[in-house]
Amino acid sequence: MKVLSQTVGAFQENAYLVIDEATNEAVFIDPGAEPEVLVELVRKSGADLRAIWLTHAHLDHVGGIVGVRRVWKVPVHMHTADRPVLERAPVAAAMYGIPFEVPDAPDVMIEDGQRLVVGTLAFDVVHTPGHAPGHVVFRHGTTVFGGDLLFAGSIGRTDLPYADPAAMERSLEKIAQLDDNLKAVDVALTADEMKALDEVSKLTVEYPAWMDSLGSDRRPGERRY
Ligand SMILES: [Zn+2]
Repeated sequence: MKVLSQTVGAFQENAYLVIDEATNEAVFIDPGAEPEVLVELVRKSGADLRAIWLTHAHLDHVGGIVGVRRVWKVPVHMHTADRPVLERAPVAAAMYGIPFEVPDAPDVMIEDGQRLVVGTLAFDVVHTPGHAPGHVVFRHGTTVFGGDLLFAGSIGRTDLPYADPAAMERSLEKIAQLDDNLKAVDVALTADEMKALDEVSKLTVEYPAWMDSLGSDRRPGERRY
């Protein structure tokens, strides 16, 4: 599995082009902005783009969909619970003064426990609501594409419309218990995010304090929505 990451847009979102090297088939996870850059990434890779998968529908994760689909009309996969988030994305973009191309309704609705395939690679869909109601992560072995569940030294925001701090707590516990080896070879989480996962595994005893201290670690000027 080859993963090309590209940071795009005003919120510095990470888009991931995941390529199955056995078949050259690829998916884009969260093509969030600057579609011309993302299209170029696919072209340079020579990969055969087959689908778009969304961890959730915040504007900084969906803003590149229209531009990418002008070139490759691939199906968009999303958890059904993020429909209201997607519907609100144009409003949020207007609030931030960000140019935004409104994507069509997703083609495929995904749910917890489902298995998605690209070429010979299989990914488990793990529903992790909290940051957004339809937030999911995509897991292949010990590699997890985590969306906005975790940030460097922090967790995803839960003060946004449709966010749910209690659901976030359950989702973090769910991820912490997925696999003891999850931390070993994860390309989608940074070293700092790994530290956050370490903290998550301790949260049973004093979760609120843990959450407060992580929250205070966030840099001023939140860079993601
Ligand atoms: Zn988000």
